[in-house]
Amino acid sequence: MASRAVSVADLVERARAGEARAVARLISLVEDQSSKLREVSAALMPHTGKAHIVGLTGAPGVGKSTSTSALVKALRAQGRRVGVLAVDPTSPFSGGALLGDRIRMQEHATDDGVYIRSMASRGHLGGLSVAAPQALRVLDAAGCDVVLVETVGVGQSEVEISGLADTTLVLLAPGMGDGIQAAKAGILEIGDIFVVNKADREGAQSTRRELRSVVTMTDRPDGAWKPPILLTVATSGEGVDEVASEIAQHHDHLVTTGELDRRRLARTRREIEALALTSVRDRFAHLSGDTRLDTLAADVLTGAIDPYAAADSLVENL
Ligand code: GDP
Repeated sequence: MASRAVSVADLVERARAGEARAVARLISLVEDQSSKLREVSAALMPHTGKAHIVGLTGAPGVGKSTSTSALVKALRAQGRRVGVLAVDPTSPFSGGALLGDRIRMQEHATDDGVYIRSMASRGHLGGLSVAAPQALRVLDAAGCDVVLVETVGVGQSEVEISGLADTTLVLLAPGMGDGIQAAKAGILEIGDIFVVNKADREGAQSTRRELRSVVTMTDRPDGAWKPPILLTVATSGEGVDEVASEIAQHHDHLVTTGELDRRRLARTRREIEALALTSVRDRFAHLSGDTRLDTLAADVLTGAIDPYAAADSLVENL
């Protein structure tokens, strides 16, 4: 297999037919920023746009991965094909083995209606902001109805995740002082659905009340989506069907209001920006052996030009 060159078109066809290995292979190609990246991206495009991308975010330990697994179960029970992309924006290491080790996900390992993949930034320039949208397209093209994007690690990645998703779920847990922290971290603005997990623990109701008072304070135009606040026990699955149902309702809302297109447009703009910036950085990286920078630096030192003009000249001639 390894000795034979595999065509991208062939891989995409096989992924669309539901072959898990082809899906994994395509995600590796985008994650490794391989030379086939552009070809992969182009081949995927006609088959994308159908999956509902749902981001899960919240502080470490709040129950994101347990909730993701419980949601997979609930969505599978509805017969939906599900993808899971666990992203770790803080880790420079390969995430390949990460989820494989996570026992909670193992119950889904043999289900061919579920694709599970983890991804780390691997220290690439542009990192996840470039690779994650492509990985989501692979899962989308592979026929996933819903793709859950979960953050792992300890980064402040809330905003990054919401930037990838159509719908953002914010998870909290009682007794973590989350209400106030949430307001600080700005996650109240990005949450479409709030989930107070660990509702089997004391303080869940008061966390919900506290959250409700903050969420309802936010000004919203008429007809705007009002983020629900749900209680769950992810470990037992209690309340998780309601979360799945709110996810579906939010999707309907996004479609009927045109908000889905607006969000996707904004997201695609950011993606193009990230790609363009990456490309500019790459070109800069190739400048190290170039004498232009030396010449410009000398000109700045003699006072012939100022550093802004020098930078403009460099960018214009990249
Ligand atoms: P993550 O770091 O946000 O992904 O959190 P995890 O899903 O790894 O969960 C952290 C810990 O909380 C684990 O020990 C879980 O078993 C536990 N946990 C998750 N959900 C619940 C819950 O609803 N109730 C209780 N009591 N524990 C939970």
